[in-house]
Amino acid sequence: MVASALLDLNWTGQARCIGTALLRSDNFNALIDPGPGSTLTALHERLEVHRLRVADLNAILLTHIHLDHAGATGALVQENPALQIYVHARGAAHMIDPAKLLDSAGRLYRQEMQKLFGDFLPVPEGNLRILQGGETLALGSRELRVLYTPGHASHHVTYFDPKERVAYVGDTAGISIEGHPFILPATPPPDISLELWFASLDAIAQLRPRRLFLTHFGYSDQPERHLTAYRERLQRWGELSAEILSRGLEQSEAVRAFGRSVAAELSHYVFNGALQLSWLGLERYHRKRAEAKAKESAG
Ligand SMILES: [Zn+2]
Repeated sequence: MVASALLDLNWTGQARCIGTALLRSDNFNALIDPGPGSTLTALHERLEVHRLRVADLNAILLTHIHLDHAGATGALVQENPALQIYVHARGAAHMIDPAKLLDSAGRLYRQEMQKLFGDFLPVPEGNLRILQGGETLALGSRELRVLYTPGHASHHVTYFDPKERVAYVGDTAGISIEGHPFILPATPPPDISLELWFASLDAIAQLRPRRLFLTHFGYSDQPERHLTAYRERLQRWGELSAEILSRGLEQSEAVRAFGRSVAAELSHYVFNGALQLSWLGLERYHRKRAEAKAKESAG
């Protein structure tokens, strides 16, 4: 039996924000990105739906070590000390000692940090399986190829299932809610590199995936279109931020200018979606239905 599932971790009580992939094959159970510490209860519940406990898991594969992807790992290892944790070499030290990572995240999120991400416990070195990229992992009868895909983070990897042709891309292909065509980049500090990122997008495209699995959130079934659109948006954000920087604004003013431009792009997108026409069509639909109902009860 080879199966995979998307587990919605219901982050901060909201559906379709952070998703974990459950990969099952011949009694080998693995998670790709178990999510933050704050959604451990939800993770347990979602596993239960598949009649699994943490003790039934064999491996956790991390695309990268950011809190929203990897935060729960240490707690899961405490619960199941046999878990193998796959992580890129450049991220491994932070899993063993997350102090520095938590320190820099704390500066960004401040008092919100605990509520958003919960605890990030360290992982014993012995549980780690260090990746460089280029490996093929055997998970039961399933094989997963590891691709080094820096850009969003210097230690980001993508996992590719060559049989199902699914690429588990973490945050490399942006944020896009399953079923919605809009894609938003996520470009947090400290190691964004647009050049590396574009090369990573090329490498993913060369795999000719049938589907992408995005942590935020779910599957994208038109990988080629998705990757092209994402590349354009990332390019645009690169140019936009350079242009704002050239104005020599105060940091807070620059953030506001960036926010305004992105919001304007979003409303342009809404404009292109011809919302007004959509509203008129739906309004007419509801009106027609009400009229038909009134006629029915009158006749
Ligand atoms: Zn993320």
